[in-house]
Amino acid sequence: MVCWLAQMSVQRVCMGSHPILRQKAQPVETFSQSLRRLARDLLDTMYANQGVGIAAPQVGYSLQIFIANPSQERGEELIVINPVLEKAIGRTSITEGCLSIPGIWKPIKRAKHICMRGQDIRGKSFVIDAEGLLAVVLQHEFDHLQGRLFIDRLSWLQRRALASAPSRLE
Ligand SMILES: [Zn+2]
Repeated sequence: MVCWLAQMSVQRVCMGSHPILRQKAQPVETFSQSLRRLARDLLDTMYANQGVGIAAPQVGYSLQIFIANPSQERGEELIVINPVLEKAIGRTSITEGCLSIPGIWKPIKRAKHICMRGQDIRGKSFVIDAEGLLAVVLQHEFDHLQGRLFIDRLSWLQRRALASAPSRLE
């Protein structure tokens, strides 16, 4: 039996000023062993950092895959590949943070209810209807794959206040 800890592969998280976080991620075309390895690395890195979600660009891969898990319970993870946001309804505001921007927590306005299409780790298509925290996490991670960070959704004044403390974004 292989020890789980021996297989742990926590990756270094790219911080806010890293250029990969500003690129649109490439679609996943091959559902291979290396994609499964990347998914496992994402899971290990997310749990090691007590995150509720993580996207591939945050560990240095410009690929359209992310994990969402608002419950933080192992086994409850949602792996979403090549996501398409099909519906975004209503408005909500939940305080968000990001593993790539440590120490900053801000309420962000997003859609309350979404419908997202994607593929699982084997390439099988699925559709998810989500609201509440799950909908917010899905939108936050989807943004990462478009090269957007949650701080981009702050008001101009709030962003200016953050820019005056640039060390927090490095
Ligand atoms: Zn994030």
